[in-house]
Amino acid sequence: LTTADLIEDHRICVCVRTRPLNKKELTMKDLDVITIPSKDVVMVHEPKQKVDLTRYLENQTFRFDYAFDDTSTNEMVYRFTARPLVETIFERGMATCFAYGQTGSGKTHTMGGDFSGKNQDCSKGVYALAARDVFLMLKKANYKKLDLQVYATFFEIYSGKVFDLLNRKTKLRVLEDGKQQVQVVGLQERDVKCTEDVLKLIEMGNSCRTSGQTSANAHSSRSHAVFQIILRRRGKMHGKFSLIDLAGNERGADTSSADRQTRLEGAEINKSLLALKIATISPGMASCENTLNTLRYANRVKEL
Ligand code: ADP
Ligand code: MG
Repeated sequence: LTTADLIEDHRICVCVRTRPLNKKELTMKDLDVITIPSKDVVMVHEPKQKVDLTRYLENQTFRFDYAFDDTSTNEMVYRFTARPLVETIFERGMATCFAYGQTGSGKTHTMGGDFSGKNQDCSKGVYALAARDVFLMLKKANYKKLDLQVYATFFEIYSGKVFDLLNRKTKLRVLEDGKQQVQVVGLQERDVKCTEDVLKLIEMGNSCRTSGQTSANAHSSRSHAVFQIILRRRGKMHGKFSLIDLAGNERGADTSSADRQTRLEGAEINKSLLALKIATISPGMASCENTLNTLRYANRVKEL
């Protein structure tokens, strides 16, 4: 089954990506508890202890639409997840791609690109790769004749409030219209003509997102970032692609925020004709419990 088949079925496609152990995990002598034995299976080797204190590993197996191991690239992940949805928006559809997982598991690395080092590079994130393909598709004869315009928005949802990342973090109101369409009032839609224009907006929005924060991760672990690519024809909406870097899912014990998060995701899923979820997991033994939570949740989403 390809992602394109799933789109035909209007099913939610669920893919999981693990990453290599990072420096901190290696320093802590953490062990990698994840294996990807085939392209759609994730195995977690959970450390357990018997009553007589002998230790053993309990193997748990999960099947998804696609599983990406720690050697996978953003381009590969993109190709099997968001890529087919670019076509959806050209065919007048609404598409959504979520990154769901524990803080530090690789959501922003996958969606936004690499913001960790000095040389920030957002050109290889899913946002930029989707934008690149939107501009390639625009050149195709059957779409060229439609004379579509491309716009981008970038906003953040933090403790139930919406902030425009392309307009100095202005706080915006959210309204639901009669057709149960959610509208973010006054959200800046920036006119974009090429991939470079989009890269500039991602950089701008990302620096706006984390400005004034002591730790980028501490902030992003509690906020959702939404990047949208909108196609318009003679001003009217033709298609919309929402790419969402969700807040960290590790606060399982904190039910109030977990409820809010679940509700928000539910609303996002309902308002789009099609949703696609990706999950990212940390490979370390220390993250095992969070990893299992992520996989169990992602597993349930497959059935939606
Ligand atoms: P999250 O957004 O889920 O909190 P990040 O995307 O910020 O996590 O990733 C945490 C750290 O791990 C970052 O320094 C990032 O560059 C690194 N990282 C994430 N995924 C990968 C990967 N697949 N390969 C290499 N490094 C990665
Ligand atoms: Mg992040």
